[in-house]
Amino acid sequence: MSLANFFRRKSPWILHFDTGGCNGCSIEVVAALTPRFDIERFGMLAKGTPRHADILVVTGPVTRQCLPRLKRIYEQMPEPKIVVGLGSCAMSNGAFDGCYNVVGPLDKHLPVKAFVPGCPPRPEAIIHGLMAVLEELK
Ligand code: SF4
Repeated sequence: MSLANFFRRKSPWILHFDTGGCNGCSIEVVAALTPRFDIERFGMLAKGTPRHADILVVTGPVTRQCLPRLKRIYEQMPEPKIVVGLGSCAMSNGAFDGCYNVVGPLDKHLPVKAFVPGCPPRPEAIIHGLMAVLEELK
């Protein structure tokens, strides 16, 4: 394992991208970042730029409008990069399945390493899912 990968695994930086769901999953992601659930105790940090991110966390259904932006963000992330889908919408389009503008699920367009199920998933489940995929950075 290279030195860079060692530190990435110890302190991965996360980019959250919401494709436009109901915002329920986004609120749970914010809850996971707040002191109550405190995702930073595991060394994870939310970042606002894909160029610094190790893990792309996607919530909501993939829509025709957001798909090019989602792909561009993924391409801007440095290797090794991991994609995690949160919630039923990312997994299977959820409540938005069949809508004219929905082109998901997420793993049809990006190499998703893991999904965290739920509508929305609880902050504990989000943290657990992210911890599980960190093994991939070994
Ligand atoms: S999975 Fe549920 S909570 Fe999350 S964006 Fe979709 S409808 Fe909203």
